[in-house]
Amino acid sequence: MPKLVLLGEEVIECLNCGEKEFRVTIYIYEVPFFRNILIETGVCSKCGFRRTDVSVADVGKPKRIILKVKSDKELNALVLKSSTALLRIPELGIEVAPGPAAPGYITTVEGILHRVLEHVPAECFEENSKCHGKVREIMNAAEGKKQFTLIIEDYYGRSGIKGKDVEVVEEELR
Ligand SMILES: [Zn+2]
Repeated sequence: MPKLVLLGEEVIECLNCGEKEFRVTIYIYEVPFFRNILIETGVCSKCGFRRTDVSVADVGKPKRIILKVKSDKELNALVLKSSTALLRIPELGIEVAPGPAAPGYITTVEGILHRVLEHVPAECFEENSKCHGKVREIMNAAEGKKQFTLIIEDYYGRSGIKGKDVEVVEEELR
């Protein structure tokens, strides 16, 4: 059974309004393959701004994490994308930059593609639209019909990809 333990709470400056009203709650959570991860959830009592972040508990060096997605095995791998990570899928033209308002999250590789689809304009889902090809490409990738490479670059080393019998390459990032 996964175990969620409350580590503490602190009140810091809000990224949105700048007031020292942003209350962050930090938990430590045991996840298969990752051991311990930190989950931070925060809300500002002044402006209502909310933010979630995740990170591996053993924070590492700047790194680039590469996963070649060839089958369901890789699609089901767990991805911990921290707010400090840049995420790229070159074959699909996907790039998600880090930023102060970028949330961190844990999902599967397939889940990342669904998150990307949520941000695609609605008209692209219509079959005769110009951008429908892109949507179909991402859907094919999510169904295991197209191979691709997932690359995560994290200067704080707070992200990770883990899965059963999947080959994850980690390089030092300069
Ligand atoms: Zn605020």
